[in-house]
Amino acid sequence: ESNLNAAYTFDNFVEGDCNRLARSAGYAVANKPGGTAFNPLLIYGGVGLGKTHLANAIGIGIKEQFPNKTVLYVSSEKFVHQFIDSIKNNTSNDFVHFYQMMDVLIIDDVQFFSGKEKTQDVFFHIFNHLHQNGKQIILTSDKAPVDIQGMEQRLLSRMKWGLSADLQAPELETRIAILEKKMYSNGIELSKEVVEYLAYSINTNVREIEGALNSLIAQASLNKKAITLDLAKQMIDKFVKNITREVSIEYIQKVVCDYFDIEIEILKSKTRKREIVQARQIAMFFSKKMTKSSLANIGAHCGGKDHATVLHACRTVNNLSETDKQFKAYLNDLEKKLSMQ
Ligand code: ADP
Ligand code: MG
Repeated sequence: ESNLNAAYTFDNFVEGDCNRLARSAGYAVANKPGGTAFNPLLIYGGVGLGKTHLANAIGIGIKEQFPNKTVLYVSSEKFVHQFIDSIKNNTSNDFVHFYQMMDVLIIDDVQFFSGKEKTQDVFFHIFNHLHQNGKQIILTSDKAPVDIQGMEQRLLSRMKWGLSADLQAPELETRIAILEKKMYSNGIELSKEVVEYLAYSINTNVREIEGALNSLIAQASLNKKAITLDLAKQMIDKFVKNITREVSIEYIQKVVCDYFDIEIEILKSKTRKREIVQARQIAMFFSKKMTKSSLANIGAHCGGKDHATVLHACRTVNNLSETDKQFKAYLNDLEKKLSMQ
């Protein structure tokens, strides 16, 4: 009921210059929750650099040493949805009390609270209660507090009370160490040259390194033979090309329309037919997720919608994907298609 991911431990978290401060602060917090100057501990950094992993590792470390402490890991999305539900059901007091009961509260991706004033309000009260009572708060964010837009000043200042530690992209040696660790724990062997080529070629983030490793492994088990350096190079180069290629809004619309078998012109029209509206929202969602286009620009491409409509579409798709398994499966399918080509 802590919601912690058992796979994300300190043991599995490879240390490097890129994460040394965050890791050691996390380790200190795990050994003395609420009893260090690192309260809150805010871990920030780009996508795939290990924020969620490290936050879970701290929670797991605390649970191991202090089994009686209540530890809760929650994503910001889930926190927001629970809060909204509690408003609908007139149970927001219960919501607040529930969170105020925790000894350790871990909230992942707090940048998601941006622009959500009521959520920030309620979190502010929870934060104060926990902090005053010496309870540990651990937050992650994709940006440094100063760079988070749309966050109340009083909350930002509290986030800076403890320690903010960043995660950087791992350096080559750390990438190799991460690969070796993953291979070892999965019982996989790749030649030193292949591992080095992979580590050398992919320097963006750990999630992509893992993705490339997994596709190599899949290939190896398909061919039932060892991966030669030549084959590895081919695959890795292709993988790198895919990472760096940004898909366009037009391309996303085409893939979504093919998938749901509708005409692009209809997607871009003003029709309010349910299936069309949903396909349009999905196209907006992926455009936001996979391109650097502004909300306004995405709206303009989808039949002259304004930025608020696009934002609403993204939220609707997010919400649905959490509650509707079938819908989530569509999204996963589409995401695969979009990131392949
Ligand atoms: P973020 O939350 O910052 O987007 P994650 O914590 O989800 O990133 O990490 C992405 C993947 O990379 C996960 O599978 C995680 O286990 C792995 N990972 C990240 N950093 C490390 C590390 N230092 N050592 C081992 N694995 C790591
Ligand atoms: Mg994460």
